[in-house]
Amino acid sequence: MTQFTDFGLAQPVLRALEEAGYKSPTPIQAQAIAPAMQGRDLCGIAQTGTGKTAAFALPILHRLAETPRRAIRRGCRVLVLSPTRELANQIAENFSDYGKYLSFTNTVVFGGVTISRQEKALANGVDILVATPGRLMDLIERRSLTLEAVEILVLDEADQMLDLGFIHALKRIVKMLPRERQSLFFSATMPKNIASLADQYLRDPVQVAVTPVATTAERVTQEVIFAHTGAKQALLNHILRDPAIERVLVFTRTKHGADRVVRGLEKVGINASAIHGNKSQPQRERALAAFKDGSCRVLVATDIAARGIDVEAVSHVINYDLPNVPESYVHRIGRTARAGANGLAISFCNDEEKAYLRDIERTTRQKIPVGAFPEGFTPPSRQEAADNAQAEERRPPQGQRPGQRQGQRPSSRPGGRPGQGRGFEGRGGENRGGSGRPSRPDGAARPQESRGEPRGDRRPSGGHGENRGEPRGERPRAPRPQGSGEGRAIGWLDRGPRS
Ligand code: AMP
Repeated sequence: MTQFTDFGLAQPVLRALEEAGYKSPTPIQAQAIAPAMQGRDLCGIAQTGTGKTAAFALPILHRLAETPRRAIRRGCRVLVLSPTRELANQIAENFSDYGKYLSFTNTVVFGGVTISRQEKALANGVDILVATPGRLMDLIERRSLTLEAVEILVLDEADQMLDLGFIHALKRIVKMLPRERQSLFFSATMPKNIASLADQYLRDPVQVAVTPVATTAERVTQEVIFAHTGAKQALLNHILRDPAIERVLVFTRTKHGADRVVRGLEKVGINASAIHGNKSQPQRERALAAFKDGSCRVLVATDIAARGIDVEAVSHVINYDLPNVPESYVHRIGRTARAGANGLAISFCNDEEKAYLRDIERTTRQKIPVGAFPEGFTPPSRQEAADNAQAEERRPPQGQRPGQRQGQRPSSRPGGRPGQGRGFEGRGGENRGGSGRPSRPDGAARPQESRGEPRGDRRPSGGHGENRGEPRGERPRAPRPQGSGEGRAIGWLDRGPRS
């Protein structure tokens, strides 16, 4: 199968594809479209960036076009579940794009915005509903939505859904769906717990896979630079002064870390914005829009916020902090080198993070080449670095009263592996600023019955959730001996994005 025209997709869908300039299907599309058009269940292993949204959206639109009927009041014909707001928005946009010559309605609902407008949009029923689980449950509980007439269910990024603690919401949602339905299940990774969930929800599914579990995108050139914590900001500032770096995603493990990095960049005149769970929905959307249109070339993000962000031509990914979950590394660097482009992923690694680096290399089964400090970069002395760090620590995070330490907690095990055995801020996804009450990445308040939900569904040693990596009670730390940045110089600063 080499052309979209070979599938027998409905004409209006083909026309929209032609307009988008898509001729041949990506590998996941080549495998998924035909069986999904026939109504088969699918179990797909695919990351964002592989074209997986079209892999389910195109056959769904085709099937809706073949069986036109009105959605029931307060109901939907297709339900797509997404773990995050950003991904939900993107999926809905894709449905609008591919379905532009069809008259189906689609709506996206997620938390963090007023519910009444969403209720209004659902009142007469919609054909396609894209939702995050929390807000979906809220709407059902308010009787503004019923799932009794769902014909097709899509569960996107199932692994992320579980990592974020949505398992209970998910189980309740699936129970409300008709037994007779088509289910399409996608996950970037397929550990045992996800596979067993797929088993429960799918009937004789066709298995499709593109990126083998935990392999990194081939077109991404990777390197790691050893740098002590106090040198990271200066190193980043130095790197980003290079105008050849056109559009860069910088990852931090924590929300406050992301804000700190943005402040550090702004101090040296580099315009950057942060995107994470303490930002309001409009703030996130503005940051994303500026990044997309090129008016802001540096976006600093946490894992959850960045998950699913589909921005073309991200030339560089910089891991300011290494993630404590190897799969997150794979997801992060998958933000670059999308849709056929090449990209460069640079990871900063301090002494504490060397254990993470080993985990990542073991999981991806590849050694990440070590890069040296770029030419002309002199790392700050340990004393300077410690002074800077202490000045930052003394600065109260935004929205916090002076004197109140963020997430203070008495027990913190010094010397433990970062991200393990310590208390971490926020149990239920990202914290919304100010309230101090945990909330979820979709921005919805936790439903009553899932409050106090055991976190056993999360990975024991830190999930993808950024809250896992956020140490409580960050306190001024004495500088530790760190890596010196030794390694071979590969002169990447001279290169633009790979071509
Ligand atoms: P996704 O994995 O769904 O996030 O898609 C990644 C990117 O690939 C999006 O920008 C899509 O618009 C684009 N894309 C999807 N299918 C194709 C295709 N067949 N040919 C070229 N680009 C595509």
